[in-house]
Amino acid sequence: MTKPLIVITGASSGFGAEIAKIFNAAGYPELLLGRRTEKISALPLNFDQVMVASVDVTEQDQFKDAIAKAEEKFGPVDLLVNNAGVMLLGNVQKQSPKEWQQMLDTNVMGVLNGTQIVLPGMVAREHGTIINMSSLAGKKTFVNHAAYVASKFGVHGLSETIREEVSGNNVRISLVAPGAAETELLTHVTDDKALTDYEAWKDTMGGITLDPVHVAESVKFIYDMPQEVNIREVDIAATRQD
Ligand code: NDP
Repeated sequence: MTKPLIVITGASSGFGAEIAKIFNAAGYPELLLGRRTEKISALPLNFDQVMVASVDVTEQDQFKDAIAKAEEKFGPVDLLVNNAGVMLLGNVQKQSPKEWQQMLDTNVMGVLNGTQIVLPGMVAREHGTIINMSSLAGKKTFVNHAAYVASKFGVHGLSETIREEVSGNNVRISLVAPGAAETELLTHVTDDKALTDYEAWKDTMGGITLDPVHVAESVKFIYDMPQEVNIREVDIAATRQD
């Protein structure tokens, strides 16, 4: 049987790339989004059923056009993974408001943008799933993470609100809240002290962080449940993380 279309944001690295691989191996058609499309095109995937588009999730028109093109080819989106995100650590007394804005725009507006594009179709079909990549920083605080924590608490809040709005239409909204993992996330941090503090904190767990593969497996696990079952949230972290 033909499998439905899956859309993944932030597929060019880290969790998104692993999520792309796991659904590709399972034979799903995919629309893979990110600004660095060359990185997506270099992933070890079978590209027969893959569309790649350069989309900034803060630009809803680009996002919408890419999904419309993929739906023309593969049919309606059945799963949107709102994974794209940015974490710019910094002391709030010194950090540039531009960095706060980038986190709020990407991590919160990006999720809302994608959700608004796919949700009407899912509600009409009474079928579909949206999985939002939050963080343990969406449930508890961390020093030097003020704006990031604000954005991820936002993701938790908006996800549960939207879940209540569409649960009666048989549409699932779910969250994955990972702990620390080695991806490209930290490479964008401009505050050296915040970075050093973060590395010292990681040492307290023996330097052992999550393997992004396990985060991807959580996403697949949520999606693989019958449509009547909504795993509302998965919290996943290295065992040694506090
Ligand atoms: P990466 O930096 O490796 O991946 C982030 C992805 O987001 C990239 O593919 C990047 O693609 C994309 N992205 C960033 N900004 C935009 C934008 N404006 N428009 C479109 N795509 C964008 O980090 P992770 O894989 O770790 O992060 C994935 C998600 O997981 C994020 O939401 C992050 O907050 C969350 N998370 C990460 C944790 C960790 O420790 N790594 C822990 C908990 C949660 P490109 O640059 O090509 O556009």
